Amino acid sequence: MDEARMADYARKINRSSRMHLMAYVDAAEQLARFIEKSGMKMRPLKSVMACAGTVTEESRSIIGRVFGARVHNKYGSRECADMACECAAGGFHIYHTGVHLEIVDDRDQPVPAGTTGRILVTLLHNRRLPIIRYEIGDVGALKDGACPCGSPLPLLERVEGRISEFINSTDGAYVSPVYIRHLIGVVHNSGAIQKFQFVQHGSAEYSLAVQMDASCDDDAFRETATRIRCDLGKVLGPEAQLTVSRVADIPVSDSGKFLCVRNLHRSK
Ligand SMILES: [Zn+2]
Repeated sequence: MDEARMADYARKINRSSRMHLMAYVDAAEQLARFIEKSGMKMRPLKSVMACAGTVTEESRSIIGRVFGARVHNKYGSRECADMACECAAGGFHIYHTGVHLEIVDDRDQPVPAGTTGRILVTLLHNRRLPIIRYEIGDVGALKDGACPCGSPLPLLERVEGRISEFINSTDGAYVSPVYIRHLIGVVHNSGAIQKFQFVQHGSAEYSLAVQMDASCDDDAFRETATRIRCDLGKVLGPEAQLTVSRVADIPVSDSGKFLCVRNLHRSK
């Protein structure tokens, strides 16, 4: 989305009488950042349903603030459709009447609530194409207990993103994409970083492409890059080889999603 298109989307949302918006979370966050920066006034919505990506605290905060709406995280996929969504009380309910979700460890054993693991999906009503314990490629955790809204549907605690987004440090440990997004997009972002993409290419080879605001000069970029390199080095290990470059644009993937963090090494 370029700025002209984002301005057009914002005007269309304001002209429409609809009160609910559903959007890819990264697209909604990008639009919200543009609207806030441009100073446009938005009429408040009732809800924004954010899907197709990880809803972070930062994305939830800015989307909610700009659109004046509660943000509902929705979990689904093209092949399994909608599987979970947050209610008004914040519970992340699994659509248990149509789908059974399991969270398992590397030995395919169920993990306790609160523990992160691979998500396996079993669809209960798809008789044409049975999907049983399907490894969907996402990582998440279940949650114990009841939701204050009173719904009996079971709860997810979180979906942390795609396995393909998990980075391995040089000693093989898993590094969550949520951590990397927070470190670069929030901790080291004074507002000049517009977009970034962190990629693992080999067991110790990594690259970071950063799209900075046009007003940011090269000295400021180098300073930011040095600080990020220092913090990432602590997590990735002393053997890590990281190249950091400033780029004019970072394209979205073929599916239309923008991937901040990718592990091309594991998918080889
Ligand atoms: Zn609830």
